[in-house]
Amino acid sequence: MSTLTAEPEVKTTSAMKTIVSKQREFFNTGVTKSESFRREQLTKLKNAIIKYEKELLAALKSDLNKSEMEAFATEIGISIADIDYNLKRLSKWMKPERVSTPLFFMPGSSWLYKEPYGVSLIIGPWNYPFKNTVGPLIGAISAGNTIIIKPSELSSATSAVLNKMVSETFDPRYMKVIEGGAAETTELIKERFDYILFTGGTEIGRIIYQAAAKHLTPVTLELGGKSPCIVDSDTDLDVTVKRIAWGKFVNAGQTCIAPDYVLINKKIKKDFIEKMKQTITEFYGADPKASPDFPRIISDRHFERVKKLIDGDVVAGGQSDASQKYIAPTVIDNVKPDQKVMQEEIFGPIVPLMEYDTLEQAIEFINKREKPLALYVFSNSKAFSERIINETSSGAVLVNDVMLHAGHPGLPFGGVGNSGTGAYNGKFGFDTFSHTKPALKRPFMFDVKQKYAPYTTGNVNFIKFAIRKLL
Ligand code: NAD
Repeated sequence: MSTLTAEPEVKTTSAMKTIVSKQREFFNTGVTKSESFRREQLTKLKNAIIKYEKELLAALKSDLNKSEMEAFATEIGISIADIDYNLKRLSKWMKPERVSTPLFFMPGSSWLYKEPYGVSLIIGPWNYPFKNTVGPLIGAISAGNTIIIKPSELSSATSAVLNKMVSETFDPRYMKVIEGGAAETTELIKERFDYILFTGGTEIGRIIYQAAAKHLTPVTLELGGKSPCIVDSDTDLDVTVKRIAWGKFVNAGQTCIAPDYVLINKKIKKDFIEKMKQTITEFYGADPKASPDFPRIISDRHFERVKKLIDGDVVAGGQSDASQKYIAPTVIDNVKPDQKVMQEEIFGPIVPLMEYDTLEQAIEFINKREKPLALYVFSNSKAFSERIINETSSGAVLVNDVMLHAGHPGLPFGGVGNSGTGAYNGKFGFDTFSHTKPALKRPFMFDVKQKYAPYTTGNVNFIKFAIRKLL
């Protein structure tokens, strides 16, 4: 349940202004910059997550019918692991990094300092309502910012627990959750922030970008789109099908990096379909609706939207039940590019199959569309996967697996073009929320007189030489 009614003060613009200005005052004291402060907050967050684990599991069950396994692996456990990862490396990341100094600038030394931006805003989605909010939050804390969190109103149970957890654990001048939907967010983004990280759909991403532009606030946009999956005829079909089925049906397909559609070599399509049917039964039994491991669609609106995408040559699943917001794991064969299921991000448990003959056709199909958040290739051939990596553009590529990169702290997680800008995870999250400030330090000795006016021919020749040879 949303706590909006319990905290009416955050509904008004003036209340939001107060929260932002109190956070700015707090940031300006410099308290958040020290390593000890950042460590303390990360540790407090970790302990709070452990304390609230049961409530979070219950909230994720209530919002999305997430099983304990999915909720722990993809939301709670991974967030704790992310905190530990950052705690181990924070000292190293915070140290000014020395970089080489060309002769032209000698004597001198060159450095990169990381400084926090200031007051940051994190806007979260509903599909991984905990992980997609706390993941960026870990980066923002590590980088020394103050933080306002606006979780999604659609996952209201999780938002309420997050709000309770944060208000019980942190000083609101440092971290504060503001619950609400489009109206509250519209008010909130009128305020001046020093950094905004938004996770959500591309259309709302545009609105956030425009609002940020008014204050020249830097942003990271973690957006969505259609992430293709290309399956070569030379592949381990058993493992390929299992991995795609896992990626598509976990969270009932409501994952920004779910394999959206499958481009399948026509030689193996029949076998792929048979194995996919078997795998669905293995995972969720003969009636997936009765499985405790199969989630539900978040809202009635999204249920209706996803249901309408089931059309054409349905070869598995296809059933739905509005009373439970249940949509069965579904496979649609012979899908055409102009079919509805290919016109928008599916965000539901539907696997559309489109066959191809040659790799060139598959690459051309992908390159004619918006740049995806993730691209998946299944093949035993290195040449096949390397061609796809080199001839397409996407937020990330995975060879012979799906989605795992999102939980990999050594890899940046983010999109490109329509699927987003910027990234986080581990050091990339720290960097995202830090301004990299270069510092060139020079002694007073050896002052090059030739750079000063009057610009005599001798001086010009000297500077020309220095620029050509010493830079
Ligand atoms: P959404 O864009 O509808 O909502 C995201 C956030 O924006 C929510 O907090 C919501 O309250 C707020 N919002 C909604 N309307 C608004 C408006 N008019 N003005 C200002 N704020 C507004 O996205 P969603 O439905 O919560 O999430 C699904 C989308 O998010 C999918 O497209 C998915 O691919 C994407 N997603 C991306 C990532 C990623 O990391 N790249 C992760 C999860 C989800």
